[in-house]
Amino acid sequence: MKELTVTIKRFDPDTDKEPYFKTCTVKVNDGARVLNVLHAIHDTIDPTLSYRYSCASGQCGSCAVLVNGEPVLACMHEATDNMTVEPLNLPVKKDLITDLVPRLSEMAHLMPKDKPVVPAKEDIDAIKPLRDCIECLACVSVCPAVDVTKFLGPTAMRQEMRLALDPRDSGDRIADAVRDGLFTCTTCQDCWKVCPKDIEIPRKAIEKLRSLANKRGFTFPRHLEVAAMVKATGRSVSRDKPTFLEQVGDVIEPYGPVKATVGFFVGCMYNNRLPQTALDAMEVLKRNGIRVVIPHDQVCCGSPLIGTGQISFIDELKKKNIEVFRSQGIDTVLTMCAGCGTRLKNDYPEDKPFTVIDINELLTKYGIEPPAKLPIKATYHDPCHLLRGQGVKDEPRELIRQVVDLVEMPSYCCGSGGGVKSGIPDEAAALAKKRDAEIKKTGADIVISSCPFCEFHIASGTDKPVKNITTVLLEGYREKDRKEGKK
Ligand code: SF4
Ligand code: SF4
Repeated sequence: MKELTVTIKRFDPDTDKEPYFKTCTVKVNDGARVLNVLHAIHDTIDPTLSYRYSCASGQCGSCAVLVNGEPVLACMHEATDNMTVEPLNLPVKKDLITDLVPRLSEMAHLMPKDKPVVPAKEDIDAIKPLRDCIECLACVSVCPAVDVTKFLGPTAMRQEMRLALDPRDSGDRIADAVRDGLFTCTTCQDCWKVCPKDIEIPRKAIEKLRSLANKRGFTFPRHLEVAAMVKATGRSVSRDKPTFLEQVGDVIEPYGPVKATVGFFVGCMYNNRLPQTALDAMEVLKRNGIRVVIPHDQVCCGSPLIGTGQISFIDELKKKNIEVFRSQGIDTVLTMCAGCGTRLKNDYPEDKPFTVIDINELLTKYGIEPPAKLPIKATYHDPCHLLRGQGVKDEPRELIRQVVDLVEMPSYCCGSGGGVKSGIPDEAAALAKKRDAEIKKTGADIVISSCPFCEFHIASGTDKPVKNITTVLLEGYREKDRKEGKK
């Protein structure tokens, strides 16, 4: 047996004006799950505590709650000392019980065809990755698009895709998905990461529905323009100044001994819109022993096209990029754009002739020369496609703490991804506003991130300076040089 202290968010609409937190200590068996702790509190301390459960074995989804801010199934998640348990971010009926009915009642149901159809094995195999939903609504509770639009939510899209693949169904699932907010998804991937059944909704449902919607002519005109630009120029954004690739040679040698050689994939935003940020990154790599090879005929990775369902010439882009790095014998491709990094790692063929590494991973792998510590308080915005797309969480923080004081804010999508910034600017602006509110709560002087889309978008919604991680490191090196009288 062990003793655990637990804080639970309580709210009874009949008696309480506001939710409040109540802390108590209970004895439970070693290895107890959160649900066991709730039972113990209910049975020995407070019989008024309300929570929902049924199967207690991870199969029904009814006991989903937030533990330390993360959605989990209470019956499956191990209880820890000092944990905080709250209801999911959905309308609360009492204490930990949320109202699931409105969301679940909106979900599409199979509409049988006039004549019976028996699904083939291929149909069943295609549906399989989408059919395991236990309707816990953890995905809905974290979805940023649900927060600021009328989007029906990730599991509703999962259901539309599942029905679109089912030969027994007679509904027009593509038109329904578009009507229900298909293009509001920012592809932040939070729904997948919290799903207890590991259903990869962004890629297996939303991007697939978007590509089917593209074939039906539902793609937004602004997204069609982006695809036309990639087709014509190889880049997804326009340029108004010399690009990064125009300003650098084929190889950038480090100042000191070579620790590693990488090929650099710059991405459209850093190449065309924010070339100085990429140049800052090169300077940081030079100081830290990284030799950088830069193939100049690289093109857009295809991310803006995959994210909006425009995949008709995506294989040409992949082939071209793979060939330009392969032909130079590069076995490690470096990215500093979170979007490019996640696409190259996860959407390019598994047998590509190189591995892909994000710049935060590279710099922490080989270690950096310590910069001067700047008298600045900074907060860090996790790019969705770095945190959830690539699993890179600790490395940026390790680098940032070497140069400034870091004050954390919750990880949350800024609204720039999935074609939302260009396609639904009101939604993107609403999410940037939410981000700004969190930034202000931290009291930070600056915001640091590691993705050009996030940096560009957050800067449009806050009055704080927004900087790339490598720019801040470079400022630390310049301050160090100044103190040492070098420059
Ligand atoms: S990827 Fe993000 S925005 Fe899209 S449905 Fe999932 S949680 Fe919502
Ligand atoms: S998709 Fe996953 S997270 Fe969403 S309701 Fe279904 S089981 Fe829960």
